[in-house]
Amino acid sequence: MIYLTRRVEFSASHVLRNPGFSDEENRKIYGECANPHGHGHNYVLEVTLGGEIDPKKGFFMNVVELKHILDEEIIGRLDHRNISVEVPYFREHVATSENIAVWIWRLLVERIDRRMLYRVRLFESSNNYVEYFGE
Ligand SMILES: [Zn+2]
Repeated sequence: MIYLTRRVEFSASHVLRNPGFSDEENRKIYGECANPHGHGHNYVLEVTLGGEIDPKKGFFMNVVELKHILDEEIIGRLDHRNISVEVPYFREHVATSENIAVWIWRLLVERIDRRMLYRVRLFESSNNYVEYFGE
């Protein structure tokens, strides 16, 4: 088994706010991130695939194909967007890194063999990241 990771960056804004909570509860839970006007991040996404090297090709996944999938599925949907407003799923779900990572996984598994998709790692800042390895 060998692992291939592609890293991509996107800039997006969001609001951490659950409409089921009062303003005060939202402020208590999410702090400044509950500001209803939103705030932005330069996100870094790392997607890791694992597979067996095809002896004829010398790789298991063409990195250009992975680049295209990430550009179409993730960058096209999130870059320079307000995630909480412009991505329908996040009108119903709080746009935390945790929820965004799971949402990314679910999009990718439609395009990439589940057995090959190993990890989604999402950095909201250089100090914090979340990882998701599937259900
Ligand atoms: Zn934030």
